[in-house]
Amino acid sequence: MSAMTSSPADLPVLATVVCPYCAVVVPDARFCGACGAHLVVSGSQAAQRLHSYAAFPDEPVFRVSVVTSLFPHLSHRAKAPFRVGFAVFLVLLLIFALAGTTAPLIAVSALSVPLLFLLYIWEVDPYEGSFLPPTFVCLLLGAGLGAGWAIIGGSYVDKALLPSFTSSLISGSSIVAAIAVPAIGQLLMCVPMMIARRMQRGPIESLDGFVAGATGALGFTLAATIDLMAPWLSNGQLTHEAFLANMTQVILRGVTLPLVSAMATGFIGAAFWAKIGSRSTSAKGKWLTSPGVALVLALLVQVGLGFTDIAALSDAVLVGIHLAALGVLTLAMRAGMHYVLLHEALDVTVGAPRVCANCSHLVPAMAFCPQCGVAERAIARPHRRRATWPLINGVTTPSGGIT
Ligand SMILES: [Zn+2]
Ligand SMILES: [Zn+2]
Repeated sequence: MSAMTSSPADLPVLATVVCPYCAVVVPDARFCGACGAHLVVSGSQAAQRLHSYAAFPDEPVFRVSVVTSLFPHLSHRAKAPFRVGFAVFLVLLLIFALAGTTAPLIAVSALSVPLLFLLYIWEVDPYEGSFLPPTFVCLLLGAGLGAGWAIIGGSYVDKALLPSFTSSLISGSSIVAAIAVPAIGQLLMCVPMMIARRMQRGPIESLDGFVAGATGALGFTLAATIDLMAPWLSNGQLTHEAFLANMTQVILRGVTLPLVSAMATGFIGAAFWAKIGSRSTSAKGKWLTSPGVALVLALLVQVGLGFTDIAALSDAVLVGIHLAALGVLTLAMRAGMHYVLLHEALDVTVGAPRVCANCSHLVPAMAFCPQCGVAERAIARPHRRRATWPLINGVTTPSGGIT
């Protein structure tokens, strides 16, 4: 069996160019490997590259996509299985809502998004082989806080999450239910991420903070959802509600609550953990990388949904507003994450050649892939290492031997 092995000595000398946006000498390619600017297009938009999301450069920043927004480290090939997993979850919700079966509805609502996120952590290994301690600290602490929030909040939480036809939007209890309860919940969701930040050793990256924030938030919503939906069990095996009423409850508690909470808190975590540098002055938008901005965004969405829930709206309008809020938050969070990845301070080096895990081109290891523009921090760490293995017939292998 014959094989062609590439080594750095066999590779052609790279042509270089001075990036007009960061003034660093970088390989002459489609993207600047130092600041991520698009070098083919020109103009003020090239440095911001809003047409090419830093975590998934084949997508624009402003695209409503649950999988590529909630799972920023995911590899190109793993996107499809996670999309299938999310679709299966939605189909199960639909089936159980049609059947009106209580226990399966509660279980699928509470567990699906957290389970998908744990699978994602397993797949991308963000903490480099030591994911168990920080993951379980975030999950369990979040669950404890979520259970306490749901129990202590009591009737206020019910008012915040259930449509009520007796409340006025300006009564004292409504203000508490619509503002205080969701805001305190959002602040509590941030606690596990801040503790995980103190535990974390070694190199810190923004997307580690996203994982920690989202994990804590999903532990929180898991416990809160079980606690808030448990009264259904007293009705017996069936909810005795209409299909639309069942769907409203499971969409609010099983879909929008965990997704809004995970994305909002994950973005706060990413901004909180990121070390923002001053290299990419041309990209602008640095204010979007502030943890304070991320927290204000999360509070605005949570309080807005709190008022929606007590506004005596019909089920269809309620679901529509929740889904619209999820869409708006997704777009805002992606813009924030994009700028965090563009501005995150990194050493600018032209590293050893390797195969990009996103586009499969042989490129020098840099902060951004010069060929496709993906931020290196959006590549799962195991895939970054694997990409440095020698090439055999165009396929990377761990040993460099013929297989
Ligand atoms: Zn540059
Ligand atoms: Zn690439």
